[in-house]
Amino acid sequence: MIQPEQQRRAYLEALGIDVWVPRDHAEPEADVVDPVIEPDTLDWSALRDTVAACTRCDLHQSRTQTVFGVGSPDADWMIIGEAPGAEEDRRGEPFVGPAGKLLDEILLAVGQGRDSVFIANILKCRPPNNRDPKAEESAECRGYLERQIELVQPKIILAVGRIAAQLLLDTDTPVGRLRGAKHFLNKTPLVVTYHPAYLLRSPSQKRKAWEDLCLARQFLAEAGA
Ligand code: URA
Repeated sequence: MIQPEQQRRAYLEALGIDVWVPRDHAEPEADVVDPVIEPDTLDWSALRDTVAACTRCDLHQSRTQTVFGVGSPDADWMIIGEAPGAEEDRRGEPFVGPAGKLLDEILLAVGQGRDSVFIANILKCRPPNNRDPKAEESAECRGYLERQIELVQPKIILAVGRIAAQLLLDTDTPVGRLRGAKHFLNKTPLVVTYHPAYLLRSPSQKRKAWEDLCLARQFLAEAGA
């Protein structure tokens, strides 16, 4: 309920009259800091809403929208890239540019489609000019990805590209040396492959990407899926 004193001040303010308050009666300024919501207990839709409203790092100032991810929340395969690019930022969906089209083809070659896997990125917002993610940006965003992985419970994770692979595995080993092995993210098997944007520039490497996908499929079969 509005108190008489508040009402009086509102009238005076509406009339353009400054309201003088003795220093020792002044109300403390309201705390305007947004509460930071920790993602680790959120369900899928609360997580999606929290990501959409996120202001944890400066990227929220330049994004058109957040890019949560796409696909099935019950997927066996989880594909993790680096960050949205210009087209992804515009459409709100990961891997929709030319590199995304190639990723779709690669996935189809092992019998998977956009709706049977879950595709996400390390960052949910586009870094300006597609620069590499800063350490603090990936740290602030990490909880969202970890919660996505916890909720999807994939049987295999495919890390695409150097940035995703190195950040997920906390290493600076080059992609070429991370490929061809079974890594783990917590207890989930993880395979590293080249980024499709790199494959567009170096089509002769596509065969290696095919081998990586076959390896991932093999690990999935070993897991009984
Ligand atoms: N590259 C990525 O790593 N992710 C996208 O969503 C698009 C391009």
